[in-house]
Amino acid sequence: MSIAYDIVDHAHDVVIVGAGGAGLRAALGMAASGLRTACVTKVFPTRSHTVAAQGGMAAALGNMGDGDDWRYHMYDTVKGSDWLGDQDAIEYMCREAGPSVLELEHLGVPFSRTPDGRIYQRPFGGQTIDYGGRMAQRTCAAADRTGHAILHTLYQQCLQHRTEFFVEYVALDLLMDDDGACRGLLAWGLEDGRLHRFRAHRTVLATGGYGRVYFSCTAAHTCTGDGNAMALRAGLPLQDMEFTQFHPTGIYGSGCLITEGSRGEGGYLTNSEGERFMERYAPSAKDLAGRDVVCRSMTVEINEGRGCGPGKDHILLHLEHLGADLLHERLPGISETAKIFAGVDVTREPIPVLPTVHYNMGGIPTNIHGEARTIRDGDGDAVVTGLMAIGEAACVSVHGANRLGSNSLLDIVVFGRAAAVRAAAAVRPGERHAPLPDDATDRAVARFDRIRWASGRTGVGEIRLAMQKVMQKHCAVFRDGPLLDEGRDKLAEVASSMRDDLGLVDRSMAFNSDLAEALELDNMLAQASVSLRSAIGRTESRGAHAREDYPQRDDEAWLKHTLAWLRPDGSIDLDYRPVHLQPLTNDVASIAPKERIY
Ligand SMILES: Cc1cc2nc3c(=O)[nH]c(=O)nc-3n(C[C@H](O)[C@H](O)[C@H](O)COP(=O)(O)OP(=O)(O)OC[C@H]3O[C@@H](n4cnc5c(N)ncnc54)[C@H](O)[C@@H]3O)c2cc1C
Repeated sequence: MSIAYDIVDHAHDVVIVGAGGAGLRAALGMAASGLRTACVTKVFPTRSHTVAAQGGMAAALGNMGDGDDWRYHMYDTVKGSDWLGDQDAIEYMCREAGPSVLELEHLGVPFSRTPDGRIYQRPFGGQTIDYGGRMAQRTCAAADRTGHAILHTLYQQCLQHRTEFFVEYVALDLLMDDDGACRGLLAWGLEDGRLHRFRAHRTVLATGGYGRVYFSCTAAHTCTGDGNAMALRAGLPLQDMEFTQFHPTGIYGSGCLITEGSRGEGGYLTNSEGERFMERYAPSAKDLAGRDVVCRSMTVEINEGRGCGPGKDHILLHLEHLGADLLHERLPGISETAKIFAGVDVTREPIPVLPTVHYNMGGIPTNIHGEARTIRDGDGDAVVTGLMAIGEAACVSVHGANRLGSNSLLDIVVFGRAAAVRAAAAVRPGERHAPLPDDATDRAVARFDRIRWASGRTGVGEIRLAMQKVMQKHCAVFRDGPLLDEGRDKLAEVASSMRDDLGLVDRSMAFNSDLAEALELDNMLAQASVSLRSAIGRTESRGAHAREDYPQRDDEAWLKHTLAWLRPDGSIDLDYRPVHLQPLTNDVASIAPKERIY
């Protein structure tokens, strides 16, 4: 059963989907440059997942007297990415880091301070100076609530510059014309219960990650990767979807995050024998090695019987030796989280922790200006007219196969700003809109209707849980061919139950959370499928993709990005594009691949 909708039309110069750090930084820049800017968001802006970011934002300011430099930051990021990151994009991000932090400070972000009044910086995983030896202090922090401080500041600035917010609007699909250009999007207003068509010269997807594809993750329930799935349905590829970051210290049981900044401040991990085991796996960086390295080490300890607790199934994180004063000043947020979710007083006892899904390195491929890329006529750098992507939804790629901690807050601010600069240069305020083909809206409405009126016997929650369990088991810290293949088959069954047996209980249009969750689940299933398929394709181990059947990194065959397309019949096509090994300028040399040791 389907009914016609009375669609509300809007016209803007630019429309941004997402009001996290990436979306708000782009909105601020676009609105300030005189473009009529709409920001569409399914949650209130300051509830976006960026608000939960704890540890901080990397920038080689050298405020702690360590002689830090953006070139060391670039080296660490390339190494952290296991050489899959594009070096031109990484150079751009690391050079822009200092100015970006200072700009945030001037906009009003209340960073923590050193005794002489500079921005306080803490050590984080994989950050070194002298190309490998000593640890740097690079992560700029506002206690352990850095994302909160940044997001609130950006929101205030956006209001000042008259960004038009559409809050609690769920973006459904991109409106593509027959030439493959993006002309805007269709959204569903939760409050007025109506469909809204936004036309714009640039549509910017800043919809964040898709951590909720997994059973245990640190991300908010809203992190369902809607923009990524919209790109897939528009016939566009997603890049490097096999690379999912697990964070070493999710609280055992709940998955809530304990920031890496806690190890930056001196915390350490032990196994059931009380041993500081990271000394064996990463003799130099120890507990501050790359996240993929720490997660694998923890998993090996547990698998070999040295896990803690009655089930021997977790690891302990010690902070009690740091003292109550430091914990109170630098880590108040996680002290509270540990109390609530683990019942632990961090000044006295260790926190039980376990590797937990935390970040998606993969996403919509873009260039350094935030313009979405695809492969066209053999050109792997071809740009999609009218479409941009930034933040965790995008894959620039600055994180490659493994993101370094505190490089995401940096990524969202740097590329949010870059996208604004690009849009301001390319779009004239008030320019006329190109005509829209009718079937673009029809296709989006048809999908919405199919899900709204689904009348099978299985509820959203049941299907979602089945998907999350498959991903948690079959696409985890360690994987191999048979495990992934079995996962693909099980996921196909989940997808068919979604197609044939989904049943909604609520068909109303206003604040219908049953329908919103079903739409999100449809989006997540698409991403789970391409993630598994991309992981099956890559027969090597690199960064967060650790295959037990192919334990070595293979630069000969695999120094390339995976691109995955989801076809309307559910099949998936893979192709590859080369990694950019050349930096952006001649100021630095290309960093040649070598063994990654911490
Ligand atoms: C607990 C936690 C701690 C972290 N700590 C750090 C840290 O200390 N340092 C660091 O560098 N990184 C950290 N990260 C990672 C980092 O915070 C995120 O990668 C980053 O904030 C993502 O920002 P974003 O703007 O891309 O997306 P988000 O902040 O996730 O925002 C997504 C936005 O998209 C909107 N949206 C999504 N779908 C739709 C739709 N269909 N329609 C309309 N709107 C939609 C949402 O409403 C939201 O506004 C942390 C992550 C987590 C989960």
